[in-house]
Amino acid sequence: MTTLRQGSRGPDVTRLQTELNRQLSPRPDLQLDGIFGAKTNAAVRRFQGSNGLVVDGVVGPRTRAALGIPETGRPFTHRVRLNFCSISLTDVPFNSILAHTQAVYAPHGIRIDFANGMSLGLDPDAASRLTQVDGTCQWTITGGEYAELFQHGGHVPSTDIGVFYIDRFSQALNGCGGHLVNRPGCIVARAGTRWCTAHEVCHVLLGASFSPTHINDPRNLMHPVDLQRADTPTLTAAQVERIKQSPLCVAI
Ligand SMILES: [Zn+2]
Repeated sequence: MTTLRQGSRGPDVTRLQTELNRQLSPRPDLQLDGIFGAKTNAAVRRFQGSNGLVVDGVVGPRTRAALGIPETGRPFTHRVRLNFCSISLTDVPFNSILAHTQAVYAPHGIRIDFANGMSLGLDPDAASRLTQVDGTCQWTITGGEYAELFQHGGHVPSTDIGVFYIDRFSQALNGCGGHLVNRPGCIVARAGTRWCTAHEVCHVLLGASFSPTHINDPRNLMHPVDLQRADTPTLTAAQVERIKQSPLCVAI
């Protein structure tokens, strides 16, 4: 699908109108006429605004990914399900984090599904203790506050990735992709950039044995520093291949 904007016509616009009718609330009741007119433009802008995207009425890769519309000829072949579990609100709103995470994986045929989002509902004692997570980020977490956090997310099925949002780490970290055995998950700090969740999820999908863990190319998602970037981060062919072998990345 090419970029769509006011004036575009054709079956891609009909598909767009179908998704906007399905996903927007209140429903915009667009006619499925394949003509991108003022009403469709307004609906696109409303969708962008409520998903933390740039509000420009232009349907490019990020808006398309957030709507779950694959590129023509390149349908989604896989899906990954995320459960958000939060103790802390994040500097980047959750809907924007989700939209940017979807934008990273969509060009590779991987759809990111939002399975569930909830605050962890901790008792005040645990909540205040776990806003800052103490300990070390390791591949396999076995104890300490890291483990305690994952244990609180017991509702997350082991087929999904739990993404835990905390206020901060005691170390200078924005995220950690380590987790308990059979409890796939990662932790992201409040100050993480809009790409930080996609990066930590990638650690979980690549697994402990994949090498190199990080790549020193600032365009790549797995650059070791949580960079603010204008462009959507890239993945190498080897990274994509391994991600699709993960049991958490299911063929559809
Ligand atoms: Zn990393």
